[in-house]
Amino acid sequence: MRRSAQDIQLKTPEQIELMRAAGLVVAAALDAMRSAVAPGVSTADLDAIAEQVIRDNGAVPSFKGYHGFPASICASVNEQVVHGIPSAAQVLQEGDLLSLDCGAVLNGWHGDSAITVGVGETDPALLRMAEVAEDAMWAGIAAAARGAANGRGRLTDISFNVEKTIRKAGRYGIVDGYGGHGIGTEMHQDPHVLNHGKPGKGPRLVPGMALAIEPMITMGSPRTQELSDGWTVITRDGSMAAHVEHTMALLEDGVWVTTAPDGGRARLGELVTSRQPALNPLPE
Ligand code: MG
Ligand code: MG
Repeated sequence: MRRSAQDIQLKTPEQIELMRAAGLVVAAALDAMRSAVAPGVSTADLDAIAEQVIRDNGAVPSFKGYHGFPASICASVNEQVVHGIPSAAQVLQEGDLLSLDCGAVLNGWHGDSAITVGVGETDPALLRMAEVAEDAMWAGIAAAARGAANGRGRLTDISFNVEKTIRKAGRYGIVDGYGGHGIGTEMHQDPHVLNHGKPGKGPRLVPGMALAIEPMITMGSPRTQELSDGWTVITRDGSMAAHVEHTMALLEDGVWVTTAPDGGRARLGELVTSRQPALNPLPE
């Protein structure tokens, strides 16, 4: 495997196509869950839906068994930020804000993506926070694409653009201690991708890099704590939180958001590679 000077796993275009196939499975699982979200549905119900979609597509849920994690998704409700464990006892209620994080491995390659959605009628301020997290994620991805294209990009250009987008949008807490990551033949690889910081630092952004970009923000303080279940991360002040994520890969001719069905075209336009999905494992 080719590696960069900083020991980051660099993928060939063919390997990135395999990541695209895995990413489309994750996208399908998230889509199925999004359609099923409603008051009265439990997070265990959503977990079962995701696992079914992943396995129906010949992939394996990468979260299941990861350091002992018991499920195929993380479902984080309201003040839960990330890593919530799905449960039959956690029944969604009207007005909840729900983050669904999902990963799949197909033919040895990973995809990792998350969405934040409202349950039924939801406070517009919470939906706006989810939108800000999404905008920040796309700004980070766009910065990576531009930096790789002009040859001057550095890793923290992503972090800087994520933070800038959030700060411009309002007084949100930017969760520290968790962030994006390299991804490829493992779900979590180097480098760690901070959601804040100065631009122009860290490894160069080069074709072959694949990263998961995942802003986490809150309506209040950025401080978090882990529950005694050893997984669930909540806000210390009880404020609501949003988390979104996409996996993206840098190619010679642009970025490919492997977990976005359109590859990122709607949000990034010409920054997206002209490469077409050569592999689409999803049934008609
Ligand atoms: Mg994830
Ligand atoms: Mg991730």
